[in-house]
Amino acid sequence: MSAARSAATRDGEPLLDVRGLCADYGAGPGAVHAVMDADLMLHRGEVLGLAGESGSGKSTLAYAITRLLRAPGIITAGSVRYHSGSGQSIDLLAADEHQLRVLRWSQISVVMQSAMNALNPVISIGSQLTDVLRAHVPGMSKAGRRARAAELLTMVGITTDRLGSYPHELSGGMRQRVMIAMAVALQPEVVIMDEPTTALDVVTQREILQELAELRERLGFAVLFITHDLSLLIEIADSIAVMYAGRLVERAEAAALFRAPRHPYSLGLLSSFPPLHGPRRPMTGIPGSPPDLRNLPAGCAFHPRCSYVMDRCRTDLPPLLELTEGPGRQAACWLQDGSAPAPAELALPVPPAGRVTAAGQLQAGAARLDQVNLRSRS
Ligand code: SF4
Repeated sequence: MSAARSAATRDGEPLLDVRGLCADYGAGPGAVHAVMDADLMLHRGEVLGLAGESGSGKSTLAYAITRLLRAPGIITAGSVRYHSGSGQSIDLLAADEHQLRVLRWSQISVVMQSAMNALNPVISIGSQLTDVLRAHVPGMSKAGRRARAAELLTMVGITTDRLGSYPHELSGGMRQRVMIAMAVALQPEVVIMDEPTTALDVVTQREILQELAELRERLGFAVLFITHDLSLLIEIADSIAVMYAGRLVERAEAAALFRAPRHPYSLGLLSSFPPLHGPRRPMTGIPGSPPDLRNLPAGCAFHPRCSYVMDRCRTDLPPLLELTEGPGRQAACWLQDGSAPAPAELALPVPPAGRVTAAGQLQAGAARLDQVNLRSRS
């Protein structure tokens, strides 16, 4: 995605504005805090990636936003506002079941993780597509629904002779395409995709991502794309939020995160996958396992696995610091508050040595100002 387009998507009010969202599993002292104090904004036409290992809270956050969280999951704090293109502003956490039913599919839709589990195995895919239209487009004729179902299948690259097929008669990639066709059937403004390509081989994965990009270009919806594969997000997302142990730990434009991650966890995720493009990076991965959410380490939850851990990390929880090196650039790491020198791979930009140009001096000044600003905020 070009920088110009990326900047353009940030104009105006966000489609989804999530503030301080918290979600638990269970209640009382044994409650598991799966999402803590999450702030997210999804803009019109944007692809926002949400990355993190399994159990980091990505899916819980998405289901909390869409009010699809099932017991024992509960939302304990925060707000989620949806600003539609028609000028409506809806508080999703206060919406009743009727309002949610109207919103789902038509304005906000979800592509679930496992297409085989999400599709009904005993109903043909044609009937499942027409069911969506019958439920949400009153007055549409049977022939109209059938024609629209055929059009949707064609849009995702499946021939219409498959309308009568059952899910088990389709490949994994085709089932996932059917899920995408259902999600865009009513031309929503927001599509939330929860690991939509995880179970697929890389060739099918690539084809589906290409088709998704074309559909988005044509229909203009915004996407919240959830995956553990940060290198895939770098390819398709405008901006990326990284989650660890229920908290957002870094936010950045995708290209900026790829060039220079500012949180050791993001750096670890990037070094866990071979990049699809660009220079090779050594694959080192992240030592250890994600923490038990019922018993999080004190201070920074990442400290037992972090190669840059300092004394302070073991006791103090780092806030999400504004890094001032780009729009919305944030990281929750004590290396970024200016009180300790950050290692080169996580440091804020410094001017190149040698030839000094006016631009270089400006950059140097800006970098120094950034450091001063961060120190004064800490
Ligand atoms: Fe590592 Fe400390 Fe930063 Fe946490 S706050 S990511 S432990 S350096």
